[in-house]
Amino acid sequence: MAAKKKTTTASTRAKAQVKKKMAPPVPTLERLEAIHPDAHCELDHEGPFQLLVATVLSAQTTDVNVNKATPKLFAAYPDARTLASATQDDVEPLVSTLGFFRQKAKSIIGLSKKLVASHGGAVPRTLAELVELPGVGRKTANVVLGVTWNTPEGVVVDTHVQRISQRLGWTKNTDPVKIEQDLVKLLPREKWDRTSHVLIFHGRRICFARKPSCEKCGISDMCPSAFAAENVGRKPPRLRVTG
Ligand code: SF4
Repeated sequence: MAAKKKTTTASTRAKAQVKKKMAPPVPTLERLEAIHPDAHCELDHEGPFQLLVATVLSAQTTDVNVNKATPKLFAAYPDARTLASATQDDVEPLVSTLGFFRQKAKSIIGLSKKLVASHGGAVPRTLAELVELPGVGRKTANVVLGVTWNTPEGVVVDTHVQRISQRLGWTKNTDPVKIEQDLVKLLPREKWDRTSHVLIFHGRRICFARKPSCEKCGISDMCPSAFAAENVGRKPPRLRVTG
């Protein structure tokens, strides 16, 4: 019985490994949307200003850590006008659990000042205006545009989106900017925001970096890396400096 099960598993893997170069983008995305109907931005916020601040704070740290810090921050400074009048000494203790907190405190005060001075305290709705704000790059701008208004000007590429796009054969690139260029060519504009949320959910729940759960994955029949993905889309190991 055990031998039969082993043979079946091996044959399933062999079938899955019949080489496809690329998972068909739209059908694969639709399947992923069905698997993760609750996929959404996991940064807690109320309105575009708080999302902008939370996204700036999320660089190099997890959403969970940001969500632990922001309730006190937003209770004291709920909008651009209040945060623009805060000092560095006021804000640093509220974000001190996050990496690069001094720079992040400077950025969120600075972006608040600019929002007040140039946009009447409101968050602008174009990527060109958003990236002019301190600490705001293309990725942060597209998170805000996508989550708030579903008008991103690209696909947000984080570590999960990067890894899974490579595993699905949607890109051969490793640079996030080039991966984004590949994704926008493959996927319809109205799906750009959903794409990053469902890929992030899939990466956090099934397609793990180290041991992807291909056996449990609902797109394994479409995925060219199924059952052979462990080394696809992984960051290179850090070199040890000795001596
Ligand atoms: S879990 Fe496996 S089959 Fe699913 S997307 Fe990741 S590599 Fe492909």
